[in-house]
Amino acid sequence: MTNLTHLSIKESVDGLKNKDFSSVELTTEYLNHCKKYESLNAFITLTEDKALEQAKQSDNKIAAGNAGLLEGITVGVKDLFCTTGVKTTAASHILGNFIPPYESSITKNLFAHGAVMVGKTNLDEFAMGSANITSHYGNVINPWKRNGDETNLVPGGSSGGSAAAVSARLCAAALGTDTGGSIRQPAAFTGTVGIKPTYGRCSRWGTVAFASSLDQAGVFGKNTLDCAFMLEAIAGYDEKDSTSVNKDVPKWSSSISADMKGKRIGIPKEYIADGMPSEIKALWEKGAAWLKEAGAEIVEISLPYTKYALPTYYIVAPAEASSNLARYDGVRYGHRTSKPVKSLDEMYEQTREEGFGDEVKRRIFIGTYVLSHGYYDAYYLKAQKIRRLIAQDFNQAFEKVDAILTPTTPSAAFGIGEKMDDPVAMYLNDLFTVPASLAGLPGMSVPAGLSSQGTPLGLQILGKPWDEQTVFNVGAAIEKAANFDSIPTLLKGE
Ligand code: GLN
Repeated sequence: MTNLTHLSIKESVDGLKNKDFSSVELTTEYLNHCKKYESLNAFITLTEDKALEQAKQSDNKIAAGNAGLLEGITVGVKDLFCTTGVKTTAASHILGNFIPPYESSITKNLFAHGAVMVGKTNLDEFAMGSANITSHYGNVINPWKRNGDETNLVPGGSSGGSAAAVSARLCAAALGTDTGGSIRQPAAFTGTVGIKPTYGRCSRWGTVAFASSLDQAGVFGKNTLDCAFMLEAIAGYDEKDSTSVNKDVPKWSSSISADMKGKRIGIPKEYIADGMPSEIKALWEKGAAWLKEAGAEIVEISLPYTKYALPTYYIVAPAEASSNLARYDGVRYGHRTSKPVKSLDEMYEQTREEGFGDEVKRRIFIGTYVLSHGYYDAYYLKAQKIRRLIAQDFNQAFEKVDAILTPTTPSAAFGIGEKMDDPVAMYLNDLFTVPASLAGLPGMSVPAGLSSQGTPLGLQILGKPWDEQTVFNVGAAIEKAANFDSIPTLLKGE
């Protein structure tokens, strides 16, 4: 029998239907893989019993001819989505003992479609980071390595555990969240496909909040079609989230087409960043050439406010984070200091000092500062105005083009330990992903080639609001042309 963990969702669904294997068998193979590659630290919690129980139910449903869209398919769930009865930590010490009594809308949807959860994946603490090195539960290791170099590489962040898990075949697909690039950037670093839909497409209810006006759930998969199945399962209106939008969820999976005839693809000249490595630029040009070959017209566009996106994001996101994270006070749930304290204020302070890591504290400081009296107008209000201009840039560009093509990241995955002592160098990773987040646009990263050191590189596709279909289609065209079939260093020889 072929290694079941290498099958796509479509192949697995067909195999389950044809009784080539059962969901319990499929799940067991993935669970064995999870244990074999435990040292990647991709999961905070493995949910073996729950997975096998869900798989059994899926087998019954399949036998009864009652299968859902993802019936019997194993998934990883970023540990930011609340799961009933399963510890949900946000990779923070402050939520280290938190067991939600309720289910997030996204995982509820996923389970309603028959998915089997193998575990809760590791992430940067409260989804703040670009390298998965800020988790209280340790770094996640990228299953890829540079040629002839044993250095452990980062998987990207913040959804690094989900990306590493899909890349190393620890689950068929995984859930992530993307606030400024946390799905697209780790997808690029691990050779997986990752999509963040339009803001408002997926419910935020029951997902631990980082920056509420930016946070969106999304998915990782082995290919674009798998991502389409996953996104169809989780997307949809939810009255419990006031920013959820009441729009039908299209069947993206049945309409994916790599034919680019009649499509206009924009290449934003402002994304040619200073010091961009030549191989990133070359891959971008190759991507444009592939789309042209597939029938698209390539158009140079201008997004003049791009250069303000990163500073704007690093004002808006920490501002919202400082407000969202005020709720962790040690009173109702989560960690509380055990040190003797003399007052309620001291209890709050000591609990938060112990509970939050350095990066989270840095964001709270920045956020509180930009929201404080005297600085609010100069920073926060200004950032909000620029955010509007960035969105306007995209609106104007989309009058001329159907989608935009850029590199996903300014570099390939770097080593654990590199860039760690310089927060600004770390923030620069988000250069290409952050503008679309500020504008609420759908974006996807598709693996498009290997760096000179043999590690994956991704191309990013941005679409008009609610036009995930075009994003999937352009992604499929890149996927077809790139024919990226490399498997992570770790799995070679399997
Ligand atoms: N890397 C970005 C940050 O640190 C984005 C994180 C995210 O999208 N959750 O804020």
